Amino acid sequence: MTVLSIHGLDAGYNGVPVVRGLDLEVAAGEVVALLGPNGAGKTTTLRTISGLLPVIQGSVDVAGEPTDSRRPYKVARRGVAHVAEDRSLFPGLTVKENLRLSPGLKRRDRAAAYDRAVDVFPALGPLLNRRAGLLSGGEQQMLAVARGIITNPQLLLVDEMSLGLAPVIVEEMLPVVRRVADELNTAVVVVEQHIHLALELADRAVVLANGSVVLDGDAAALRDDPSQIEASYLG
Ligand code: ATP
Repeated sequence: MTVLSIHGLDAGYNGVPVVRGLDLEVAAGEVVALLGPNGAGKTTTLRTISGLLPVIQGSVDVAGEPTDSRRPYKVARRGVAHVAEDRSLFPGLTVKENLRLSPGLKRRDRAAAYDRAVDVFPALGPLLNRRAGLLSGGEQQMLAVARGIITNPQLLLVDEMSLGLAPVIVEEMLPVVRRVADELNTAVVVVEQHIHLALELADRAVVLANGSVVLDGDAAALRDDPSQIEASYLG
């Protein structure tokens, strides 16, 4: 089943597109690695999907309904979880409070949310009452990802999970994304600079350059023959 369906998307800032003519479909349970050089439009694409930026032209549908930049909270409630590059935590609030305030978390799911977060990231267990601002970078990123996962999203968007993290922590955390796709049948889009790690967990890779798709292929095949990805980065 297709969860995310993007056709002919132009998106950007103040009416000026930086993403042009983008087509992308992601199915339930599928992990797509969205790759490409700095400034290619990856973050802009994720922000447009979750309604933080308007669609200038084309369409973005999640589970058959268009995204809505006038009401991003409604997009979250419909099952789009966005783990942003800046992690979007409340540093003065505890881990528990941050979990409880996760955008899109339904009231009835609150009680199970802490257990689910600790199940996915056991390291968060002893930290539930600690202020988010006092956590290490890796712990903060775990919390940011946990806030997305506990909503049981239909679509999970993860932007640069590895930013500022030690490679060992990245290797530990990235597989969680695969687990979410497999266990919850969530459609997942990960933006990642660690290309080889992303290709290991993804089903498909899509490379953007200058706001457009320049390569869309099977992740395993691209991992076995990196020349295609290299060529797409070099233009
Ligand atoms: P990075 O890895 O550097 O985050 P990216 O592929 O995510 O790269 P985007 O952040 O989507 O790229 O940026 C795409 C283009 O949009 C860039 O040219 C960037 O300068 C521009 N851009 C990003 N944010 C803004 C903004 N707030 N206002 C205007 N232009 C922006």
